[in-house]
Amino acid sequence: MNPQTGQRPRNDLDALGLDHDSVFADAQDGARFNNANFTLVPDGSRPRLQRFLFTTATPFIDSAYDQEVIIHEYTHGLSGRLVDTVFGVQAGAMGEGWSDWFGMSIFNRPPDNPHGPEVVGEYVTQDFVHGVRRYPYATDMTINPLTYERSLYRLPGLSSARRRGDLGGHVMGSAGQVD
Ligand SMILES: [Zn+2]
Repeated sequence: MNPQTGQRPRNDLDALGLDHDSVFADAQDGARFNNANFTLVPDGSRPRLQRFLFTTATPFIDSAYDQEVIIHEYTHGLSGRLVDTVFGVQAGAMGEGWSDWFGMSIFNRPPDNPHGPEVVGEYVTQDFVHGVRRYPYATDMTINPLTYERSLYRLPGLSSARRRGDLGGHVMGSAGQVD
């Protein structure tokens, strides 16, 4: 990976990073359903971006058609390489937030409201109100009532990954707004 550009060239001639670490990108990976992931590996090894089918409709939905999913997962590869401590509850939450933020930002255009609400993953989930998060991105507390405390400790019945994502979403949604 070229640490200056964050790109993963197949052959890195500038000697700033190891070469041959372009991404394996799987579509319709049969290992799981209703998710996608990015497996981080050391510089010079090829990481894997897995996109699974979502069972939220019939026929199943191919997450390879959801550009937000692809950008979200690829951003995990970028942030995980550039900041090698994006693990654990709080750092993991920021990693989720960065990934969501890049996915949303690339597709936002005027007159989209920078204060939201903005939904992440609405295509794959077929949930156009919440998407993959418990609440949409919004600075309006009546739309997204999450606080730092509630995100970490007070949301019952959520997996730790979902909880981290909700927290990261809230923080990045607030920090990323542009007036
Ligand atoms: Zn993620």
